Amino acid sequence: MQRIALAGRPSGAPQPEHFSFETVEVPTPGPGQILVRNHYMSLDPYMRGRMDDGKSYAAPVPIGGTMEGGGVGEVIASNSEAFKPGDIAFGMFGWATHAVADAQMCRKINPDHGPITASLGVLGMPGFTGWYGLMEYGRPKAGETLVVAAATGPVGSMVGQVAKSLGLKTIGIAGGPDKCKMAVETFGFDVCLDHRAYDDAKSMRAAIKEAAGGGVDIYFENVGGKVLEAVMPLMKPHGRIPICGMISWYNDGGLGAGASSKLSAPAMWRTILVNFLSVNGFIISNHWNDFPKFLGEIGPKVASGDIKVVEDIAEGLENAPKAFMGLLEGKNVGKQIVKVI
Ligand code: NDP
Repeated sequence: MQRIALAGRPSGAPQPEHFSFETVEVPTPGPGQILVRNHYMSLDPYMRGRMDDGKSYAAPVPIGGTMEGGGVGEVIASNSEAFKPGDIAFGMFGWATHAVADAQMCRKINPDHGPITASLGVLGMPGFTGWYGLMEYGRPKAGETLVVAAATGPVGSMVGQVAKSLGLKTIGIAGGPDKCKMAVETFGFDVCLDHRAYDDAKSMRAAIKEAAGGGVDIYFENVGGKVLEAVMPLMKPHGRIPICGMISWYNDGGLGAGASSKLSAPAMWRTILVNFLSVNGFIISNHWNDFPKFLGEIGPKVASGDIKVVEDIAEGLENAPKAFMGLLEGKNVGKQIVKVI
């Protein structure tokens, strides 16, 4: 079998030398475990954090360890009554062609319900993240205005589509004219602004202000940086900010130490205070109890085509590092997946 291991810890953007492609023995499943041939794996922004060894909500990948990640594939051996060979399973199989996993940590996927890749994106962790963060912390109401960046990605596109279906005005922010066109034409955003077209937060703020009319009720935070700086002064009283991610800072160790950060903490705190804002950070892995509710609500909408799906599938495990480095630069169009085998 093949796997991709973490070869070194990047400072700044990951480079090819931080990954090593290796051939190793196929592992043997122990009691209660399954052996899976990984067909598709997910690439997600959080993986950048796993490459660092700083304190975080999850342990880092050790040097020489297989890069972490969710995957979906075929069970080829099982020591669990929950799975039999031939079943399709989702689990944390890592950047590898094969993996052994505890059966109780895996989920059976019914391939008759649509493409199995959906379990990595729209009906998996990222789609769930968008739905949960919006409903729980965004508390959307018809007639309100929402802003979300990374609008064509699996989180942002879910946020935009669910908000629109609830009667909100949706303003997407995305990188480049093609993604902005997709945000409006495919995902139904009312407006989409290209963050690359604005030199600074001030000019972007003027454009968001014009699109929003009377200000912003919900800013679903995916990126931090220039977009956050632009939106913050536009928040309406009693506005909500679910803090989901801050990808523009991930290569700075998450601290915004780079040139992109011009935010003033005192100004932010004051804005939160005087506008009575609700700002909630969340990590979706703490909320899996709500996953069945999400699937029950959103699954039929994906099946009927009411919720749209765009996937960007890279071919071959060996191309995962390149696709991942591209994801951090916004080169992906839709949910980034790798076809492993
Ligand atoms: P995407 O597939 O949308 O990929 C990331 C996108 O971020 C890129 O395509 C790019 O889109 C955008 N981006 C990258 N750098 C910048 C930048 N400097 N400024 C603005 N946009 C940038 O990712 P996901 O939908 O999977 O994730 C979106 C966010 O949600 C991330 O921050 C992620 O970490 C977070 N997340 C949080 C979870 C949680 O539990 N809290 C769970 C899952 C995701 P574009 O080209 O359009 O700018």
